[in-house]
Amino acid sequence: MSELGNPILVTGAAGYLASWVVDQLLREGHTVHATVRHLNDSQKIQHLQKLVQDFPGKLSLYEADLLKEGSFDRAMAGCSVVIHTASPYFLEKPKNVDKELIQPALHGTLNVLASVNKTESVKRVVLTSSIAALYNDACDVTAAAAHTVQEHDVNPNQDVNHNPYAYSKTIAERAAWDEQKKQSRWDLVSLHPGAMFGPSLSRRVDATSVGMIIQFLNGSFRTGVPKLWLGVVDVRDVAAAHVKAASQPAANNRYIVVGNSLSLLEISKLMRVDEFGIKNKLPKGETSKSLIWLIGPLVGMRRRYVARNVDYPVRFNNSRSKAELGVEYRGAADTFNDHIRQIVADGLLQA
Ligand code: NAP
Repeated sequence: MSELGNPILVTGAAGYLASWVVDQLLREGHTVHATVRHLNDSQKIQHLQKLVQDFPGKLSLYEADLLKEGSFDRAMAGCSVVIHTASPYFLEKPKNVDKELIQPALHGTLNVLASVNKTESVKRVVLTSSIAALYNDACDVTAAAAHTVQEHDVNPNQDVNHNPYAYSKTIAERAAWDEQKKQSRWDLVSLHPGAMFGPSLSRRVDATSVGMIIQFLNGSFRTGVPKLWLGVVDVRDVAAAHVKAASQPAANNRYIVVGNSLSLLEISKLMRVDEFGIKNKLPKGETSKSLIWLIGPLVGMRRRYVARNVDYPVRFNNSRSKAELGVEYRGAADTFNDHIRQIVADGLLQA
């Protein structure tokens, strides 16, 4: 149970990560206020409605939009802790970067924090940031000691068109720290997960993490994958880190939340597709950087991204999250195969 008190507000609760955060908070006995974009979207929120029934009196759902001023006031009333996860996550550049990415990430965060400033009961904000807020391109990390990203690193990118998602997470986190420093009632803990995988609590396939596993399975990468490294983490471990950050008074500052660093080919080699009766359409090998550079733009990879990220290994120092939050990282094989099991059981490959 939290020493920081209850209820705990979770934003973006119908999302891939936040659904697990809500689930774990309830199982640990917390009272949760959860915001979703549309209360009448039963497809997106049916798993949360089931939790409302399974934990009587412990979970309340509210409607809130990141772009509507004051939208979070009602859900936040009386809360001790706010876990702000809601933010768009897609790796392809959207048509309108400002409207689809920057506004909800940056102004959404400031909007949530405006409600925090008005809500006297709030003592802590836990922000879901990303490793994307710590570095820009893998080649920059390769130049650093032991190719390792650390908590004191800050993504130096000033160009919204280069890695727009990373840019959105970087400026949203910076704005949150600037806002926190203006007062002393609430503190801020910022969590920096790597690429999350692992089973989803909903049947949604629009989360980027879910879509990527489906692409591995449906043959989208069959001809080969670029030699790209991902900081990989189980979504359930990231949720556990959020629960600890929301309940341990001593938690502070930034935490890298990454279990392993794996190349795309190493990831595919962990997938035991035969066990799940799926035809093996996994990548057969790695595509050379020169070929990726040539065809990259045709498959949505910009040449500047290819030049600065392919063939550069990246590692992450997760020791702070283990020592201070007590996060115990699952093996990556369990993460990927548990995820495939859920995708198959929910019939999502056909969908
Ligand atoms: P997700 O399933 O797409 O969740 C994103 C959530 O944000 C959804 O619940 C979505 O609402 C909500 N949202 C987007 N725009 C909104 C708006 N205008 N108003 C209110 N809510 C809005 O993605 P996820 O992977 O769980 O990501 C959750 C958080 O983790 C994000 O902050 C992301 O940047 C961060 N993160 C993700 C990864 C990863 O690998 N997945 C890695 C590092 C950090 P709807 O439910 O209505 O769509």
